[in-house]
Amino acid sequence: MKAFEKNIRKVEPYVPGEQPQRKVIKLNTNENPYPPSPGVLAAMKELEQNMETLRLYPDPTADLLVSALADYYHVGKDQVFVGVGSDDVLAMCFLTFFNSEKPIFFPDITYSFYKVWADLYRIPYECKPLDEAFRIVKEDYYEENGGVIFPNPNAPTSLYENLDFVEDILKHNQDVIVIVDEAYIDFAGESALKLLDKYENLLIVQTFSKARSMAGMRIGYAIGSPLLIKYLNDAKYSFNSYTMNKTSLVYGVEAVKDKVYFEETIQKIVATRTWAAEEFRKLGFVFPEPAANFIFVSHPDYDAKELFEALKANDIYVRYWGSERIEQYLRVTIGTREEMEALFAFLKKYMKKC
Ligand code: PMP
Repeated sequence: MKAFEKNIRKVEPYVPGEQPQRKVIKLNTNENPYPPSPGVLAAMKELEQNMETLRLYPDPTADLLVSALADYYHVGKDQVFVGVGSDDVLAMCFLTFFNSEKPIFFPDITYSFYKVWADLYRIPYECKPLDEAFRIVKEDYYEENGGVIFPNPNAPTSLYENLDFVEDILKHNQDVIVIVDEAYIDFAGESALKLLDKYENLLIVQTFSKARSMAGMRIGYAIGSPLLIKYLNDAKYSFNSYTMNKTSLVYGVEAVKDKVYFEETIQKIVATRTWAAEEFRKLGFVFPEPAANFIFVSHPDYDAKELFEALKANDIYVRYWGSERIEQYLRVTIGTREEMEALFAFLKKYMKKC
């Protein structure tokens, strides 16, 4: 190690899923297989006519988008914070809210970025093991801690916990910040938004990347009490005032406007998920009950890593980690019906051959 490396902040980075630059059946990063709402396309054309506005900095308060989200969710503008994808929002939350000597708690099998942010910001943490069925054990979160974060539905398990469950964790953690990462909530069930009036320490984080088909735009947001949002904004303005570029603000507002398109797209994905789950079951795969736009599958007779590689060699990309407890699992994003049919056609051939 060079002498000047001694004081460099070293982190083991998060490894995102592959983004191959050619056409493949892409079921590896939970993107939406359908395009964003038609209004977004119209806004793209309009922005083209207004190139001149790119000369100026964007509105640092991101007021257009904050207002659209506040209207949509019937909360105050002072209850909404926006960022460059929920990754940016979550990173800001870790920086702002997890500043205790006590460890923060999150599940052992969960979004692997949590551990990376905790390491990056030197936040002590403890991973609480999911049970045998991959469920979060709520009693594990009753102990004293420096904050709590979990996704609902959890990733990569796709399991959803109901609001009583979420509220129980909140009831036992009123002196710390509890973050519910609802990246996949629109495919699942009730959001913890309902609990906001009761718990000033609750923060809900959502994204435009999944149900709103805009992973490429990078828009995420947090909704919480004005007090928490103020603290988040203070951290943001101490970091980078202009996190949201002009295009994201304009397209984001359009995406929020079209509720009908949004709900139809979700319905299509949920229908494909129900059908795909049945197909997986017929082929002998096992999986936790899927509530997100992906299924976390394992097969008792086929090695997950070999299957992952065989799929990839045939231009079908799914996600494989090979980490402890989930070495035999693959996470498969719900694509279009046609993409899923191609996946099952391959699996049937593969299973006959092996
Ligand atoms: N939370 C969870 C649980 C996720 O799976 C993802 C997607 N990788 C994110 C947050 C981040 O999504 P984005 O930054 O695209 O909003």
